[in-house]
Amino acid sequence: MIAAKGYAVHDEKSALVPFSFQRRATGPRDVHFEIMYCGVCHSDIHQARNEWSGSIYPMVPGHEIVGRVKQVGSEVKKFKKGDLVAVGCLVDSCRTCENCKQGLEQYCRSAVGTYNSLERDGKTPTYGGYSNQIVVHEDFVLRVADNLPVEGVAPLLCAGITTYSPLRHWKVGKGHRVGVLGLGGLGHMAVKFASAFGAEVTMLSTSPSKEADAKKLGAHKFYLTTKKENTKTLRGYFDFIIDTVSAPHDYNLFLRMLNTNGVLICVGAPPTPSEIRPFSLISERRSIAGSMIGGIAETQEMLDYCSSYNIVSDVEVIPISYVNDAYERILKGDVHYRFVIDMSTL
Ligand code: NAP
Ligand code: ZN
Ligand code: ZN
Repeated sequence: MIAAKGYAVHDEKSALVPFSFQRRATGPRDVHFEIMYCGVCHSDIHQARNEWSGSIYPMVPGHEIVGRVKQVGSEVKKFKKGDLVAVGCLVDSCRTCENCKQGLEQYCRSAVGTYNSLERDGKTPTYGGYSNQIVVHEDFVLRVADNLPVEGVAPLLCAGITTYSPLRHWKVGKGHRVGVLGLGGLGHMAVKFASAFGAEVTMLSTSPSKEADAKKLGAHKFYLTTKKENTKTLRGYFDFIIDTVSAPHDYNLFLRMLNTNGVLICVGAPPTPSEIRPFSLISERRSIAGSMIGGIAETQEMLDYCSSYNIVSDVEVIPISYVNDAYERILKGDVHYRFVIDMSTL
């Protein structure tokens, strides 16, 4: 076994506190690496606070993990000691179902999450990246090029792939009008990717203070969703809206901003259900859809794309002792645009 330390929550009401635990010994196909940086995703907060229910405690959150390989198992061919590597939201899946065969491991019914999940034995809990060491099967370890700042790469493993994957799935590009709803971790990556893919990008935000940043990130237009006249102006305007909002909101308002055949792509995961009026969909043959992270091959494709086009997340690097304060700031929308924990401070 490998001794590891990190920060954990012990129940849905408590703060993150220092925590010691064991990682499995490096198996023949495992990669053991030392974590350098881990991003703080809003999903960490939803799960730490049991907002999606079914949380497993103690929980070490974190699924935007980058580090350097310490040791590889005897059968590992793809990685060697010293390599820069990453792990996102998944650490295992069945490899045999239709989804796995198509590289859609995120939709495998036996997929194992990086934390708040059980290994395929059905009993061993997984612990995430707010920690110093991790051991992962090589099939779920990604290569990281060394031309980008490592702290800016970490959020690509969730915020990056979660926005890259639907934009690719719906073939978003030149000639499309895309709205990005919510300028946080996912939202800022959606703006970067959609503009890199050639679409006209409009930021839809509740925060007037984020307008200048949105434009710097690549948005062509900025509208406050809190102003009634804007929702009228934008009626029928977009081909796609990527909805990254973490809290309950009115989907009908944004469906009406879609053109004929437009798609509202939900990636944000508010914990409570919302009402959809059928006429929001019927009147212009609109759709509402969802998308979850991305498969392993697509995550590697996204990392390689970011390396070629110099795309990283805009981050605020924090010591791990600040993580509880970071959670409170995220909940207030005060994030520019991802907190990333420097694990050398553990
Ligand atoms: P985040 O950094 O907190 O950003 C969310 C943004 O939503 C905020 O910055 C804010 O933007 C807007 N917002 C927050 N509360 C709002 C409210 N009450 N009304 C309207 N807008 C509000 O969160 P994130 O890490 O990007 O994650 C966003 C959501 O995606 C979370 O629910 C998370 O669990 C989910 N997620 C899903 C996947 C997936 O696979 N589908 C992957 C990762 C995360 P403005 O200030 O611009 O309004
Ligand atoms: Zn995430
Ligand atoms: Zn599978």
